[in-house]
Amino acid sequence: MPRDLFIYNTLTREKEKFQPLIPDHVGLYVCGPTVYGDPHLGHARPGVVYDVFVRLLRNIGYKVRYVRNITDVGHLENDSDAGEDKIAKKARLEELEPMEVVQYYTIRYHRAMAALNTLPPSIEPRASGHITEQIAMIQQILDAGMAYEINGSVYFDVEKYNHLHHYGILSRRILEDLQANTRTLDGQDDKRSPFDFALWKKASPEHIMHWPSPWSEGFPGWHLECSVMSSKYLGQVFDIHGGGMDLLFPHHECELAQNTVTRGENSVRYWMHNNLITINGQKMGKSLGNFITLEALFEGTHTLLSQPFNPMTIRFFILQAHYRGPLDFSNDALLAAEKGLQRLLRGRNVIKKLVTSEKESPSAFVQETREKIYAALCDDLNTPVALAALFDLVTWIHTTADNKKPVSKEDVKGIEEIYDQLVNDVLGLREEKDEDRLPLVGGLIDMILEFRKQARNQKNWEESDRIRDRLSGLGVQIKDTKDGTDWEI
Ligand code: ZN
Repeated sequence: MPRDLFIYNTLTREKEKFQPLIPDHVGLYVCGPTVYGDPHLGHARPGVVYDVFVRLLRNIGYKVRYVRNITDVGHLENDSDAGEDKIAKKARLEELEPMEVVQYYTIRYHRAMAALNTLPPSIEPRASGHITEQIAMIQQILDAGMAYEINGSVYFDVEKYNHLHHYGILSRRILEDLQANTRTLDGQDDKRSPFDFALWKKASPEHIMHWPSPWSEGFPGWHLECSVMSSKYLGQVFDIHGGGMDLLFPHHECELAQNTVTRGENSVRYWMHNNLITINGQKMGKSLGNFITLEALFEGTHTLLSQPFNPMTIRFFILQAHYRGPLDFSNDALLAAEKGLQRLLRGRNVIKKLVTSEKESPSAFVQETREKIYAALCDDLNTPVALAALFDLVTWIHTTADNKKPVSKEDVKGIEEIYDQLVNDVLGLREEKDEDRLPLVGGLIDMILEFRKQARNQKNWEESDRIRDRLSGLGVQIKDTKDGTDWEI
């Protein structure tokens, strides 16, 4: 029997005890990226949050089917029904096939997610691979009378839907209020009402990605893919739907409306939303100059950064905040996270210094710490509270080792298990392997020593000494021998 787990459900605005549809099984759908640009800090938070969630579910005894989609068609600029397709636009600008854009950025996304030590989903379906199913769902919605066709495009009739159901139930919006605050359509759009959304769009002659359908040569609306792929892989009703707060409206609201028409009111049992990352208190945006790709973070190339940051530091930084709370990114916050992570991971090495004694009985503290961590994580994934318990444990290990206070063998084993099962397996925090970087570091040092050799050949002793001193300052000691120059870190 898995442990009790509590999840905050966006739909009910309450923390609820999780009850799976099928005992010991969880179906989880998370909205994945639209692959038209480099993965950035905004991708890291949902990536890490749902990864820890899946790891926790598996650790406490659930079999999880984790579906995370790749949006490769139909996501128009400004998330609206007008404008260019984000992927098609990139393809046009770079003179590539749209699927080349998709492939290129999907690989980069996977690479960044792997660097953050997130596990791949069980199924990663692409929207473009499910056009037939999307056409079938549009037909279902038309048959139910909740959509209309106009000039080859099909729109969801939000007003009609709202007579029977509550459009806005998930994001706590009222259609009449939305309408009162919106200007009328500008006449360029075919739809009857501004909140109607596209299920199918007729492709304009310059639109490169299009498929045949009963209504026109065109492409599906963005919200449709998640309704289609979640039901295909998880069933008409499934356990948990996750995603970022930015997707709550209109994306999830529209998804829920489509589901309700085709699958009934309770298609998703728990909706989870992670909060977003701000940068020095501001929303991240290309126009604000604070847009940070994960590559720039890992390599330290962005102007806001003083140094490269290890992916594990980013992971730890994200877990320091509760997933529903705000998380403000800054260089200083990352420097602090780097220190914190080192302290946590180095605690494991101090275990070796603990003095064990057969006479000691197991201490309640170690067992209590383990329970505290589980209790925090099972309480709506409260990672900051879990980390606080871990830091108390690190302090305990240091104090006990410093005072040479004997402990039982069970305690040592218990602490090692906490590190293995909770720090490494569930939180996914691991020591960065230095040897991964050695070939690069060694190559760079050899290259610098070649410059020094050139300086020496030219009898430029000043330059030669400057290089030696700079290397020494970085912790690289060099020694000139009659066979050349040796170095060691
Ligand atoms: Zn989605």
